[in-house]
Amino acid sequence: MASRPIHILLVAAHPADSFDMAGGTLAHHVEQGDRVTAAILTTGVRSHHWELGEQRRRAGAELDVEEYVEQAVEEKLEEVRRACRILGFEDVRDLGFEDDDILVTQDKVEAIADVIRAVKPDMLITHHPFESGGFKMHGTTGQCTLYAWQLAQGSGRGRQERHPVPCIYFMNPTAYIGNNSLEYAGTARADLYIDITDVIDKKVRALDQIASQYYGGPYARKRAESSDGAYGNSALVAYAEQFQRFQPQVLYTLPITDAELERITEPQSAHMGRRSEIVGGLMPLADGESFTSRHRMSKEKYEGRK
Ligand SMILES: [Zn+2]
Repeated sequence: MASRPIHILLVAAHPADSFDMAGGTLAHHVEQGDRVTAAILTTGVRSHHWELGEQRRRAGAELDVEEYVEQAVEEKLEEVRRACRILGFEDVRDLGFEDDDILVTQDKVEAIADVIRAVKPDMLITHHPFESGGFKMHGTTGQCTLYAWQLAQGSGRGRQERHPVPCIYFMNPTAYIGNNSLEYAGTARADLYIDITDVIDKKVRALDQIASQYYGGPYARKRAESSDGAYGNSALVAYAEQFQRFQPQVLYTLPITDAELERITEPQSAHMGRRSEIVGGLMPLADGESFTSRHRMSKEKYEGRK
């Protein structure tokens, strides 16, 4: 472990990405005195403001989305600022690119490099550059961040400062495997889990803030179970976040924790009990919200017959 507090810069594709994959881990870092900055590359309004998208679908060409975009951007940023505050950090920066501007471009790379030079982080967290085969905004953001990391460690131009970041983690590296067939050709693997069981309630409350894409309420709890809970199950705890290091770490001895050593003597019943916590049952839904089966697909919709 480093002997001084560190400053983490998380570069997110969309607003909610600033905490929904690594937020429990960030909360731990904040608790132990580290600083966190989240830089959001795109506003997320064109792809992730689902209420606006729904209005658009109903109104068709009658609705000029541009009239609503400015307000929608502010709504999304305000949601995510509330969420990050719950997890313990305030420094959320909007880099302001449109989320339909999806390619790896020099201006995105330079915008991220400028944030690296300004924040001078000790650690970068971003998306796996080949997520969804490298296509889609997460992969674009991961690639732009790696290019920006290279720019920032170079000499730069004019009076640009130089800042080499010694350590990069990709968040949620295997999350989308199974979503599309390109993922199977990827290089993503989880090589580190962070046990976030003690802050999963904060993460659910943070997800509760993201109303514009219906993340709150039942979905926040389901997501905690099906994503963080699934990683936790793999890691023999209740809830975990997964990461992949970009470059190998250099240490003096091989790392092993007391938690790992305890597995030698711990009864099976204890680690099964530890994996069995369910946060959804402990966190009440708001009035008017409920878990429901009414949106299920019927068998007929798959099989095309009555
Ligand atoms: Zn995203």
